Amino acid sequence: MGFNTDLLHAGKIKDSKGATLPPIYQSSAFEQETSEDLAGIFGGRKMGFCYTRVANPTVSAFEERINKLEGGLASVACASGMAAISMALLNILQAGDEIISSASLYGGSIDLFRDIEAFGIKTIYVKNNDWDEIEKSFTEKTKVVFAETIGNPCLDVTDIDKLAEIAHSHGVPLVLDNTTATPYLVKAIEHGADIVVNSSSKYINGSSNSISGILTDSGNFKWTKDRYPVLGEYLKFGKFAFVSKLRNGLYRNVGVCLSPLNAYLNIIGLETLGLRMDRQSDNAYRLAKWFEENYKDIKVNYPGLESSDWHDVAKRVLKNGFGGILTIRVGSKERAFEIMNKLQIPYILSNIGDTKTLVVHPSSTISLHSTEKELEDSGVYDDLIRISVGIEDIDDLIADFKQAIN
Ligand SMILES: *Cc1c(COP(=O)(O)O)cnc(C)c1O
Repeated sequence: MGFNTDLLHAGKIKDSKGATLPPIYQSSAFEQETSEDLAGIFGGRKMGFCYTRVANPTVSAFEERINKLEGGLASVACASGMAAISMALLNILQAGDEIISSASLYGGSIDLFRDIEAFGIKTIYVKNNDWDEIEKSFTEKTKVVFAETIGNPCLDVTDIDKLAEIAHSHGVPLVLDNTTATPYLVKAIEHGADIVVNSSSKYINGSSNSISGILTDSGNFKWTKDRYPVLGEYLKFGKFAFVSKLRNGLYRNVGVCLSPLNAYLNIIGLETLGLRMDRQSDNAYRLAKWFEENYKDIKVNYPGLESSDWHDVAKRVLKNGFGGILTIRVGSKERAFEIMNKLQIPYILSNIGDTKTLVVHPSSTISLHSTEKELEDSGVYDDLIRISVGIEDIDDLIADFKQAIN
């Protein structure tokens, strides 16, 4: 089936009573007929549900659908995008290990990587797509390569095929944050990513009504005992090693489960992902083009423009469009604030992927705690506005930006 058909029908989420959406199983625990049945579920000998921190039918329906869309082996839904990133990494790392990561990351991920230094896990930052620098950064301790498909807010586009190839040549997996692109713009597993993470709070949900995240394991990476001793007894499950360890370990023990109601809201949002991404990519392109053609004193950055340093990679990696996010540099922080304050339609808030257009001044908000080096790496400047373009009528958006600038 095509992507838009899968958005509506993939996975076994048919309800026995005929409901067209999966029921919200808002229950903490699930009763079994016999003690033997419950013991069987606990022992992993019987399929079923016992406790929502471990698994829940509505959450499973969301996981199955995402797994189908990403083309993975299995997906695990979490309480937030940050929880999903934490799980993807901590499931395979231990003290003494190193992460090689693209430097142009979402601020929350940079903060997380700083937090886990206390547990002996170090991150080496590299410039995205700088293959020499990336090659040189590998050591015996490197256990994972991490990047974002479209860096936020740098808007650099990762050459996933090439990065996966380098990671694999060193015997380590590529974990990719695909939040800004979503599986609609790129099926990252087909390009070699081993574990794909999405903050489903953004485009997947679409209306900003639930914080949530989901990771998908391709099942393709060959875990070995020498390099990944933390996978321990789970290595015997072969391609299921990663997911079995996560589900039986950190996922349930840290307690990062997604609530059934939020899973349900995500399933509804997901149905229109294709339509929304088409419209948002189109609106973002038109708005970016309009800035470029009309304002000599405004510097616009959008991977869909030929003027973007990442346009060629973007054309190779992304299909169906170049995403809904662009940035503009307007000369000064004062002018950035003035323009934002005069806008009538966009909301001033720190989020992306909403149906509504959103604007934020990153250097005074989401990047407030970044160092000079981190700001430079993530392409954050004092005069930069990030625009997450919604599905409004483009003429209205253009007219609004025009009056605000004037
Ligand atoms: C928002 C975001 C996250 C974190 O997701 P939450 O759901 O807010 O925890 C991670 N990566 C990227 C690229 C994001 O935009």
